[in-house]
Amino acid sequence: MKKYKITLIPGDGIGPEITEVTKRCIEATGVEIEWEECEAGIPAIEKFGDPLPEKTIDSIKKNKVCLKGPITTPVGTGYRSINVALRQIFNLYACVRPFKVYKGARTFYEDIDLVVVRENMEDLYAGIEFEIGKNETKQIINKISELTGKKINHDSGISIKPISVSGSEKILRFAFEYARKNKRKKVTAVHKANIMKFTDGLFLDVAKKVALEYPDIEFEDRIVDNMAMQLVQKPQKYDVLACPNLYGDILSDLCAGLVGGLGLSPGANYGDEVAIFEPTHGSAPKYTGKNVVNPSAQILAAVLMLSYIGEENAAKKLENALAQVIAEGTYTTYDFRPEGTSGASTTEMGDAIIKKLGE
Ligand code: NAD
Repeated sequence: MKKYKITLIPGDGIGPEITEVTKRCIEATGVEIEWEECEAGIPAIEKFGDPLPEKTIDSIKKNKVCLKGPITTPVGTGYRSINVALRQIFNLYACVRPFKVYKGARTFYEDIDLVVVRENMEDLYAGIEFEIGKNETKQIINKISELTGKKINHDSGISIKPISVSGSEKILRFAFEYARKNKRKKVTAVHKANIMKFTDGLFLDVAKKVALEYPDIEFEDRIVDNMAMQLVQKPQKYDVLACPNLYGDILSDLCAGLVGGLGLSPGANYGDEVAIFEPTHGSAPKYTGKNVVNPSAQILAAVLMLSYIGEENAAKKLENALAQVIAEGTYTTYDFRPEGTSGASTTEMGDAIIKKLGE
């Protein structure tokens, strides 16, 4: 049997707990993986004085596939997001987040099965920012008034929102190809083109052009605020949502809320060469080391990874075992239960999944 070499970044906070359980679940599918374990985030600072050491980057470069736990980003001070840095270094331009209702999850909805395809490189996340009071900020404010005749308050900070034809084409083609490959019927482009004509308007124009190349896939567009309401009222109508970076980020959390929370929402970041799989949630610091959080998002990220490396059967088996444990409800964590109730531990839920895989 083929043995895969894959980079594993446990991350920090609850990351090590949920990646450990996930590793055991993957092992129980019979797929053999030689994990190259690397640090990023707080453990990397402690060991190397660097939140994203060269060794970690080299390992991903070499193995091309990485399973990653969540990594803390300090707010306001300290280093910039390691998650954003990884996306930039490996040009992971497409973030794919499937949202599905599993029977037994704590949700008001049934039959949701949609995928958010989020552009990962451009938009307000490009990291081009000008801090209040800095000389270059004053210069840019003056230049903008000179060029546009519009006034920006001098006590402003500025974040730049670039959206290109090439970047939009790449993500929209990815969304349509994904839809075709995964037998999905419809792509909905999300935008605010009525207000931001030269960025979101451009994204929408590109979407309409790319859609013509895929006559087998239905295409429509929605303004982002309307999209948010429609997702709450009739999420079953949607299939693949193609979004610029910021809207994709926000709508992903909305969709996570629809299907029962962040603990059930995995994500994959794809570039042309490298793919990184991770849960959508963060490092949940208040639960660190308590062995109580839901490992499902991390396990579902592993399901996406197994499918990506061609282990489709193992991916299906693992997803089914997880779905059964959730449906039975005996070994589920606190977030599946009424507010204020405790649940099974992270490891108990993992053990129940492993038991199902062996049946
Ligand atoms: P978070 O997702 O870590 O946690 C918010 C809340 O969601 C938790 O307090 C908990 O109630 C719940 N939750 C999250 N994961 C859960 C799980 N597996 N099981 C059960 N409940 C769960 O969001 P936050 O508190 O805003 O962020 C904490 C840190 O994580 C920040 O530093 C943030 O920057 C970082 N972060 C990292 C990633 C990533 O690594 N990709 C993503 C988001 C946030």
